[in-house]
Amino acid sequence: MTVLVLGGTAEARELAAALGTVAELSLAGATQKPLSLPHRIGGFGGANGLAAYLSTKGYNGVIDATHPFAAQMSRNAYEATLSLNMPLLRLERPPWPSKAAWKNVPDMLGAAKATPAAASVFLSIGSQSLGPFLQRDDIWCLTRSIEPPVQAPPIGEVLLERPPFTLAHELALMQHHNISHLVSKNAGGEATYAKIRAANTLGIQVIMVKRPQLPEALTVETVAEAVKWVENLGE
Ligand code: NAP
Repeated sequence: MTVLVLGGTAEARELAAALGTVAELSLAGATQKPLSLPHRIGGFGGANGLAAYLSTKGYNGVIDATHPFAAQMSRNAYEATLSLNMPLLRLERPPWPSKAAWKNVPDMLGAAKATPAAASVFLSIGSQSLGPFLQRDDIWCLTRSIEPPVQAPPIGEVLLERPPFTLAHELALMQHHNISHLVSKNAGGEATYAKIRAANTLGIQVIMVKRPQLPEALTVETVAEAVKWVENLGE
């Protein structure tokens, strides 16, 4: 019994460790120094490439444990497993419950539109999602990511940091930069929630990007449930 675990999250790392030799962990290669030692790195070449890979390797199932905003990989996993009639499980942490004070927006373009001129913005959205902010020369941006962005917004600073972050750290950071707006993806989980708590404490406007819509798939929220799913695969 072997499964392919599509990673890029702490949960995928924990799951691969829990499953041991039963699993192959796959990473996109987006991070230069990944925390886990992956079994393989790099794309498969779309849904067809993934389907070919899965059948060549003779896997019994796929666990999509990618980040909730890695929509392309999740769609590819859905299509590839459907075409092979192979079991698919999605391991996905629940989103943060919406707060009345947040401005919820459907995507990053919506986030940029919701950001007013003259704002001091904390962009905590990773290095790949900055597009709609790159032409904004009317706002000051603190851009935080693990990897350096290829291009950053024209005015502001880039901060390279890896989660988890403490509340004290986030409070000090936002106060130091006199932040007025926080832009965040609704990633869920504890590792990056301190920024939301800090923004609430300081009265900073939170602009929250909703998760992308994904095809319906069997979904669990915890590593333990995913391990159980693998144990039951052969039955
Ligand atoms: P994406 O847009 O959904 O995927 C783009 C392409 O990257 C996929 O089509 C696939 O290439 C390749 N890919 C993605 N995840 C892969 C994996 N686990 N193993 C092998 N190939 C993978 O993903 P993304 O948003 O660029 O994110 C890239 C990685 O960073 C993901 O693994 C994700 O879990 C992680 N991550 C993303 C975010 C975020 O906010 N998007 C945040 C934290 C971590 P092919 O089509 O060639 O197979």
